Amino acid sequence: METVKIKHLEAIEVLDSRGFPTVEVEMQATSADRLAQVRAIVPSGASTGEGEALELRDGDEKRYWGKGVLRAVKNVNEKIAPAILKKEFAKQSLLDDLIREIDGTENKQKLGANAILAVSLAFSRASAELSDRPLFQFLAETFETKANTLPVPLMNILNGGAHADNGLNLQEFMIVPVGFDRFHDALRAGSEVFHALKKGLKTKGLSTSVGDEGGFAPTFSGERPHEQAIEVILEAIQTAGYKAGKEIFLALDCASSEFCQKDSRGEWIYQFENRSLTSSQMIQLYDEWLDSFPIISIEDGLSEHDWKGWTELTKKIGNHCQLVGDDLFVTNAKTLSKGIKNQAGNSILIKLNQIGTVTETLETMKLALQSKYSCVVSHRSGETEDTFIADLAVATNCGQIKTGSLCRTDRTAKYNQLLRIEKRLGKQARFAASGAFQGL
Ligand code: PGA
Ligand code: ZN
Repeated sequence: METVKIKHLEAIEVLDSRGFPTVEVEMQATSADRLAQVRAIVPSGASTGEGEALELRDGDEKRYWGKGVLRAVKNVNEKIAPAILKKEFAKQSLLDDLIREIDGTENKQKLGANAILAVSLAFSRASAELSDRPLFQFLAETFETKANTLPVPLMNILNGGAHADNGLNLQEFMIVPVGFDRFHDALRAGSEVFHALKKGLKTKGLSTSVGDEGGFAPTFSGERPHEQAIEVILEAIQTAGYKAGKEIFLALDCASSEFCQKDSRGEWIYQFENRSLTSSQMIQLYDEWLDSFPIISIEDGLSEHDWKGWTELTKKIGNHCQLVGDDLFVTNAKTLSKGIKNQAGNSILIKLNQIGTVTETLETMKLALQSKYSCVVSHRSGETEDTFIADLAVATNCGQIKTGSLCRTDRTAKYNQLLRIEKRLGKQARFAASGAFQGL
């Protein structure tokens, strides 16, 4: 790649899908005689892991309930811009390294990961445009892959936890359409099941309003609401004419750090439904669910602090279920290394804003894939119209993406971008299908 010179950089405060502020960056860059003008917006989580890079918020209660990002915006405009404007960068990592140096902290608390990531994303996009390639092909070059595999979508069609107010402890109930030859057929199946679920809930007199990631958020009244939630989804799969456990599987994001506490003896206890469960009892419950339901992936099944439990969980069910670390690994290569050493989990969720630069995200993904951990590229619950993660999933050939439900533009924008990429790849396009879950 020719060197890229940044001509103009400016951040503003915009809104995310929850109506809270986030950082948008506009960048103009040149290379040889070409000019690119691009934008990037960062997302924001609700059930964040403690080890995530710092999302800088103003804390000024008079604006946006303290959630303004004017300090991060100012950091882009007054600290990052003067340091990178008019400089030439031969590759992404040189820019990312320079900004990290200016910040100088481990968790990016000085400039804010939201400020840093916005610039990093915009630089990737500008570099792609300047080299006349789609973003997924540009990112693939850094990753040295062929970039022709459309990921299996893990579609969150029923919400609970911190993303809804319906009393479910678990945060996400996802459908995973693996039994298809092409991405667009998998997507269609997902949409049809989503609409079948809407009808099913309506018939049962349950709410069809949606949570933060566009999945339904009904309140189940029985003793075992989580099992009821799984049952209505299985019914919807059947109503839509698909076979659960063959064409469409299930995945859960338990986000269990949210309902876990240490007791007086120092043991991690999970307040689940109306019970207090130890890690071993949670593992037992998951094991029973694996026997009863076609679940192929469980994310954050145990708390981010419960490392001993994670090793036990992996030993017990890791050979037949994908065990994804989200809050556990926070897209951080160092934390992932600890996981690899402790045999904790067999998969990692990838969220760019947990670590704060494109370069570090790609490094973490490389380490994961080399260590036979699968990667699930992921959105945040607070999203925007930015579709970077769709390109990232294809660029790395990682085979899985988690980007929410089949409604709301902040979620469908990513699916639509994947459709465009599929079209652009033409005959070369592959669908990851069940291969994405190989080795289980
Ligand atoms: P978050 O949720 O963006 O609120 O962290 C997504 C997830 O936990 O995977
Ligand atoms: Zn999660």
